[in-house]
Amino acid sequence: MGESMEASKKVALVTGGSRGIGRAIVIGLAQEGAKVIVNYRSKPEAAQEVVEEIRRMGQEALSIQADVAHEDEVKAMVEEAVEKMGGVDILINNAALHRGGRIQKLSTEDWDTVIHSVLKGTFNCCRYIVPLMLEKGWGRIINISSTVALHGYPGDTAYGAAKAGLIGFSKSLAKEVAKKNITVNVVIPGFFRTDMTAPLFDTEEKIQKELMRIPMGRPGRLEEVAELVSFLAFKGSYITGAIIQVDGGMGM
Ligand code: NAP
Repeated sequence: MGESMEASKKVALVTGGSRGIGRAIVIGLAQEGAKVIVNYRSKPEAAQEVVEEIRRMGQEALSIQADVAHEDEVKAMVEEAVEKMGGVDILINNAALHRGGRIQKLSTEDWDTVIHSVLKGTFNCCRYIVPLMLEKGWGRIINISSTVALHGYPGDTAYGAAKAGLIGFSKSLAKEVAKKNITVNVVIPGFFRTDMTAPLFDTEEKIQKELMRIPMGRPGRLEEVAELVSFLAFKGSYITGAIIQVDGGMGM
């Protein structure tokens, strides 16, 4: 039996699963049959809306509030996941807070906000969830980075550092757990229209500028990230430590 056939036995936790790319990932994993945990930080209504949509699909879903930057909140989230869902088999580290600004104006507070939500958040979640995966002898970790990690973007030193840090983190962790049937991969989305990127799409001039950087000439559809994540979760059993771009050719 292929691993995709076993999706209904798997529990997936998506950090920042209530909106944007994370929401699409949650729905994609639920469509494959997984039980899903929708983590969010500040907007319970958005998380609840996704949970209800998944329940209408006939799948199990649960939302859990936790700021991934805070270890105690992540610990409590994982304890609740174990109690209510029996553990976490698939972890998608997707949550991120974006703060930008040229270096001379970037505050230490903004730097910390970005680094803590992305890097410390991913560390915190892996720190508490990898032991559960080791116990079961199966796990899938997918970390959502960004083209900024590879190519940079003016005003994005903090974001670029955090997202590039995810790559080094993922490769080291992939090597630590490879023999235990746990894969760790990085997905690099290009341009997707979400609340995070709304400031880049607020004038026609800005839209055209961004589209010129994309060989395929359009932003991605959110499901296009979700499809790749579902593939890595349920099919890609021999793929680990990989960095896969889903960006319409932006990264060429
Ligand atoms: P978004 O629309 O801003 O949504 C962010 C989500 O993350 C929300 O569900 C939010 O929850 C949650 N979140 C933020 N900080 C959190 C924290 N500290 N703890 C827990 N949850 C937190 O973002 P997006 O555009 O979908 O981006 C999703 C991921 O893809 C991010 O890692 C982003 O860097 C990456 N990415 C996006 C693009 C793009 O074009 N959009 C491109 C490359 C990479 P609340 O609403 O409850 O606060």
